[in-house]
Amino acid sequence: LETAPPQALTALHDTFGFPAFRGVQEQVVARVLDGRSTLAVMPTGAGKSLTYQLPAVMLEGTCVVVSPLIALMHDQLRSATANGIRAATLTSADSDREVTIERFRNGELDLLYVAPERASQSHFRDLLSRARVSLFAIDEAHCVSEWGHDFRPDYRLLRPLLDSFPQVPRLALTATADAHTRADILAQLGIPDDGLIVAGFDRPNIRYAIRPRDSLQRQLKSLLDEHSGPGIIYAPTRARVEQLAEQLSAGGRRVLPYHAGLDPAVRARNQAAFVASEDMVMVATVAFGMGIDKPDVRFVAHAGIPKSIEAYYQETGRAGRDGDPSVAVMLWGAEDFARARQRLSEVEEHRRASERQRLDALAALVETAQCRRAILLRHFGEDPPQTCGNCDNCLEPAGVTDLTQLARKLLSA
Ligand code: ADP
Ligand code: MG
Repeated sequence: LETAPPQALTALHDTFGFPAFRGVQEQVVARVLDGRSTLAVMPTGAGKSLTYQLPAVMLEGTCVVVSPLIALMHDQLRSATANGIRAATLTSADSDREVTIERFRNGELDLLYVAPERASQSHFRDLLSRARVSLFAIDEAHCVSEWGHDFRPDYRLLRPLLDSFPQVPRLALTATADAHTRADILAQLGIPDDGLIVAGFDRPNIRYAIRPRDSLQRQLKSLLDEHSGPGIIYAPTRARVEQLAEQLSAGGRRVLPYHAGLDPAVRARNQAAFVASEDMVMVATVAFGMGIDKPDVRFVAHAGIPKSIEAYYQETGRAGRDGDPSVAVMLWGAEDFARARQRLSEVEEHRRASERQRLDALAALVETAQCRRAILLRHFGEDPPQTCGNCDNCLEPAGVTDLTQLARKLLSA
């Protein structure tokens, strides 16, 4: 294992106020400070931002961070600035671009956040060559891979840019990458195979439960009755979000909707209310959650199947970041899978095989009578124990009636 120099520990205390590195952070930071390109696969909440922000503070020059969403950039900008780090975003939405460019060129920025589409702009490349770049950090790096669950063609434009600064190390970061996707990220971004660092994916404080849906409203109501504290319910469509938010509000708990179709001001207000609250429930589409740092979410429910195991892990991973006991409940129906399989026929041919594999893997997780956690961790390349003692299958092995019910559901699909 690699250790970071003592100055890194000093910066960790002084700039970030943390007593120690967590997990593989130190290993990643050590490599980056050493100028070696790296792909860090670390689960949500593991503290990926620190692995580029700390070197950004220590190294001379500016760390250029590629991030897929303006909202994500602004969250990062806020927390970096709060720590006294000199940071800025350079996006079409910023009115102070000239000021930012000046600061960048004068070496007055530790961090510069940009969207991937900048990479293809020749004036951006010129700008980089006239400034001093210490590090390229590529956040949400799975977006570069068609094997990943969130492919973004703009990420493919990064490689030529990176290659024109061969002396600048690259740090790619992602929470969700199966073996295929990892290999692809390494290849796409030109990072050597020995630059891969994978962190522990287990979230032992999250209790996983996956159940067939019978009456969604009743099942969610009892979930809300059984669990106090903030919670998120993911629903598949905007209409479903609105409907569930209204139905569940009747129970007296504060329940608000969140989806991309809402007025931006309402969306922002609902999100702020959730972040501040101690027992609010957000019913949301998957548009909600990225970049939200709320440690005390006590439950995450899926009112329908997620897109993939990666998406499931990422979405459920928003529960219990404070380490306290939390639950993740998926309520699925055979019709979810039927619809997803139908949709496969609309997928472009070259992506169909990987999409089908993704769906099959998810179905295996849903249908298994074995430990859920074991299936999840094996999916991410870890070698888990046979049973975890903290998922539905370990805690309440399926009885005969459950199995009969399940079989009936599956046969009717
Ligand atoms: P990720 O991007 O991997 O999901 P973040 O970078 O957003 O995670 O960090 C998640 C949380 O962990 C943040 O609140 C961050 O301040 C905190 N954190 C990061 N590193 C440490 C550390 N070494 N000690 C304590 N808290 C940390
Ligand atoms: Mg992050």
